[in-house]
Amino acid sequence: MEQRTPLIAGNWKMFKTGPEAADYARRLLALLSGGTAGVEAMIAPPFTALSAVADLLAGSPVALGAQNLHPEKQGAFTGEISAPMLVAAGCRYVLVGHSERRQLFGETDEGVRLKITAALEAGLDPVLCIGETATEREAGRTFSVLDNQLKNGLEGLIPDRLRKLVIAYEPVWAIGTGKTASSAQTQEAHAYIRSQIAEGVEIALSKSIRILYGGSVKAENIAELMSMPDVDGALVGGASLDPDTFSRIVLYQRPW
Ligand code: PEP
Repeated sequence: MEQRTPLIAGNWKMFKTGPEAADYARRLLALLSGGTAGVEAMIAPPFTALSAVADLLAGSPVALGAQNLHPEKQGAFTGEISAPMLVAAGCRYVLVGHSERRQLFGETDEGVRLKITAALEAGLDPVLCIGETATEREAGRTFSVLDNQLKNGLEGLIPDRLRKLVIAYEPVWAIGTGKTASSAQTQEAHAYIRSQIAEGVEIALSKSIRILYGGSVKAENIAELMSMPDVDGALVGGASLDPDTFSRIVLYQRPW
């Protein structure tokens, strides 16, 4: 079976200033100083805190990510940040198509595809977020929603360009609600996503691609989620804001 390095990623959303982020990074690195047992960690602070943590995290098992990007390299786009700017700020990862961006900022699958293309071109590893709403799940449309988001978000991108892509399955009804998808629901969705990558892109990529689960992940439920064969990590929102809690999620293999 393909070995996929687990990735535990923290999405801070619009929380923490630069000094608060630096304090967090120091505390997290101290908590992880005993090693992460082969697990890769990543934090995605707001843009204004990236430079405050980049040097602290360099060479550590905690990678730096951003929460969004603009598809153009530069230009008259007031308030936006490009992929080369994120690379220069020390980022390795970037979240693309988070449900909050889709729902609150009108992000479309077409926009997501342009952002993924720009991220890959600049050498960033994009984390494509997909997931169904409660209404879509209740209407039995989960798979078709995932299928559309995948197809439209990745259209025209050849497998060789997608080796560094990470997918985050985030059911919208589980984000920030305290309602986690059951491990069976998660496994079912992840296996479906993997099968769609095999069918629509490439079998080899479907085996190597990391699929994270996101939606009210906590220290208490991570181990069970990670025991599912197609779950390769987690995208953690609220529970990533405290370094103690986040370190417990990263160190999920350790008995507490
Ligand atoms: C998220 O923001 O991607 C997320 C999964 O949030 P939470 O863990 O708070 O549900």
